[in-house]
Amino acid sequence: MMFWRIIHRAMLLVICSLTICGIASCEAPAQGLEVYFLDVGQGDATVILCDGEVMMVDGGPPSASQFIYSFLRNTLQVDHIDVMIATHPHADHVGGLAAALNACSVDVLYTSETNYDTKAWQSVLKYADAQGTPVIIPYPGDTFSVGEATVEILGPLWYHNSLNDLSLIVKVIYGNTSFLITGDAEWEAEHDLLDAGIDVSADVLRVGHHGSNTSTGYQFLRAVAPTYAVISVGADNTYGHPDEDTLSKLADADVTVFRTDQLGTIVCKSDGQQLVFEASKGKP
Ligand SMILES: [Zn+2]
Ligand SMILES: [Zn+2]
Repeated sequence: MMFWRIIHRAMLLVICSLTICGIASCEAPAQGLEVYFLDVGQGDATVILCDGEVMMVDGGPPSASQFIYSFLRNTLQVDHIDVMIATHPHADHVGGLAAALNACSVDVLYTSETNYDTKAWQSVLKYADAQGTPVIIPYPGDTFSVGEATVEILGPLWYHNSLNDLSLIVKVIYGNTSFLITGDAEWEAEHDLLDAGIDVSADVLRVGHHGSNTSTGYQFLRAVAPTYAVISVGADNTYGHPDEDTLSKLADADVTVFRTDQLGTIVCKSDGQQLVFEASKGKP
């Protein structure tokens, strides 16, 4: 028995070190997952680091451009993004992505709609084109890896005229922990997923549409059943985000809520089992 145990352990060691070398550089061991919800004012920007690989989901409004550039290059010391996602081309989600394309080489840009004629979006497409980054509309059900994390595209399942309902809906799974990012998807898109029986459950929900009352329906929230929620929202914004209705739904569901307008940039670290939150402005 003892003999087999030793052999088994030795084989595991070999397999682990091979896997690590295959993912990134050989000197970079598995470091866990870090999800940064950036304080970009009224907008959404999330950067995910896993085992030396980088995914960015949205880039905040144009006014956040300098912060995005500096956060990537100076704070995270990142000059390459493996996967960039623009959930949808509204300026509060893509305004800072041109700065990210300026700061980093980007392997691929996923989005839900390429044909949108605004200065902010056209600038993203121009910078992507300049460095030869392919712009791809993924299919629901597509999956890919960022380090040891698995990323699943859950939606949109159907075409919607509303750009918010056309948001890419992304689930990130790392060990036993998971994150759901819904962009600005509203009730219709949420119901599409529920009607199709898609597993939307997640430990952490980046709350849809900055906590607007047109997102985070009761049924959707019950199906996600998050322990934590992050709302990315500007202080005293003119939209009234987050809505009191959404906050009371989250409170009724016993969800611990973290807000970028109150806490600044928020980071959630996962070792595959446990989640730890830290914030730049005080304790969450
Ligand atoms: Zn939007
Ligand atoms: Zn938005």
